[in-house]
Amino acid sequence: MMLLLAFDFTVRSQQNDSSYQIPLSEMKQINIQKSEAEWLEELGPEKYRILRQCSTEPPFTGKYYNHKEDGTYVCAGCGAQLFDSDTKYESGSGWPSFFAAIGKDKIREVLDTSYGMMRTEIKCAKCDGHLGHVFTDGPPPTGLRYCVNSASMDFVPAKAK
Ligand code: FE
Repeated sequence: MMLLLAFDFTVRSQQNDSSYQIPLSEMKQINIQKSEAEWLEELGPEKYRILRQCSTEPPFTGKYYNHKEDGTYVCAGCGAQLFDSDTKYESGSGWPSFFAAIGKDKIREVLDTSYGMMRTEIKCAKCDGHLGHVFTDGPPPTGLRYCVNSASMDFVPAKAK
């Protein structure tokens, strides 16, 4: 994990855009240390594949893409609060989409150049779990589209908050 982080930091430092650089203080927030075997046992194969191996669920298959209840979406890896249902909208992508995170400090952004694309991966700042990507074609007021795998999240209904 630390090797990956170091690689990440190196790649992003080479970009001429300071917004891609991870401050050291941000890296220290990743405070959950588990072995891959522990993650696999805790999450099960599907969530492990997405959260820890940066995979993606097929569109229109996740349990939350068409989910409309009031409440909070939390990280399926560590329970950190990520998105409020008030910021969820129908993007048509087939994945749960939000125009804002609960807090900027909840999400870590990483440049993702896989598959010949330039994308911004989003990860849980607390456990480093892969969530999805953020794009700049979202609605007002932010113009952002946080495109998130259902398997990366659990839902806490508002009445149980
Ligand atoms: Fe997490």
